[in-house]
Amino acid sequence: MNITHIETLLLDIPTIRPHSMSFGTINAVNILLIRVYAENGLDGIGEVVTLGGPTWSEETVETAKVIIERYLAPLVLGKNLLRIEAIVEEMDRRVKGNLFAKAGIECALFDLLGKAYNLPVYALLGGKCRERVPLSWSLAIGDIEAELEEARRLMARGHRIFKIKTGVGDPEHDIERVAALRTTLGESADLRIDANQGWDVATAIRTIRKMEPYYLTFAEQPVPRWDIEGLAEVSRATTIPIMADESICTPQDALRVTRQRAARIFSLKLTKSGGFLATKKIAAIAEAAGIPCYVGCMIETSVGTAAYLHFTISARQVSYGCELFGPLLLQDDIVINPVRYTEGHIEAPEGPGLGITLDETKIRKYCRSS
Ligand code: MG
Repeated sequence: MNITHIETLLLDIPTIRPHSMSFGTINAVNILLIRVYAENGLDGIGEVVTLGGPTWSEETVETAKVIIERYLAPLVLGKNLLRIEAIVEEMDRRVKGNLFAKAGIECALFDLLGKAYNLPVYALLGGKCRERVPLSWSLAIGDIEAELEEARRLMARGHRIFKIKTGVGDPEHDIERVAALRTTLGESADLRIDANQGWDVATAIRTIRKMEPYYLTFAEQPVPRWDIEGLAEVSRATTIPIMADESICTPQDALRVTRQRAARIFSLKLTKSGGFLATKKIAAIAEAAGIPCYVGCMIETSVGTAAYLHFTISARQVSYGCELFGPLLLQDDIVINPVRYTEGHIEAPEGPGLGITLDETKIRKYCRSS
């Protein structure tokens, strides 16, 4: 079955509240929706989400659109759907980097393959390791009272895992936020922090050590992504396990971080790594090194969330849960059958491919006019 054409569409969906991270505050997510069509009329869907421009990495939804239309689509058109690894290899050979763009295409190919053979994507990836995944919610307001209120409300609904977005302002304020959450929520809450590269090594060591009495499950990406030696230094200086996120995009990154023993946990994301196949390779490196994994997100709609979820339930190395809360933070979704949440978990999706059906009315509503 050959691929006949590819469509891309830019959308923006507001969040339910401002979401602050070390690199800025977002009030909406930018989305690139990708549809890949086969000769029998079936189509597959992929989604790329970035956080307000080239903030998390060099890529944006706008660059992904251009890269796909001008450079990746010609490599994919006319190709046989049963050759996804070979298609990805050619995309990697002909186009450097641009992993979000490649992940969006690869996701649409897997959705299409699943629909063509009436199998969910997780089955194509090896099948289920679990039926549902514990969900982490990100506290990213910065105001202590507002965060306590949000956390209490979620705990009343069975939610237990919270990741506190730090590295925005004064590190002492981050310590106060962590202390207040631990004191108020008690021992049953699972608290983690993510500095999104916001600290230098000295600040990271000082701040994370001061957080040790509040027994965090992990501290994520305290220092800039390029500073692997610094990450290792922080890792050695604290009892809190350090998780690498921005420092690990490719399998080569994962190998480097592993060799330097720079992190004790890996955060996996399909889009930062170029898709399912590359992320599987990173999980394999983690497994070989005895490193557990977590699955992060870029605040996707149910489309991208479903893609991450198919990976997550099929990846045995994921034992620290996931943060696939995108549809809960967005004011609206673009599908008819959103992903399902129960008791602080996200449920395995069903149906062929991603198991997602787009809502064309919503797509028209949030589609960019220019
Ligand atoms: Mg992160």
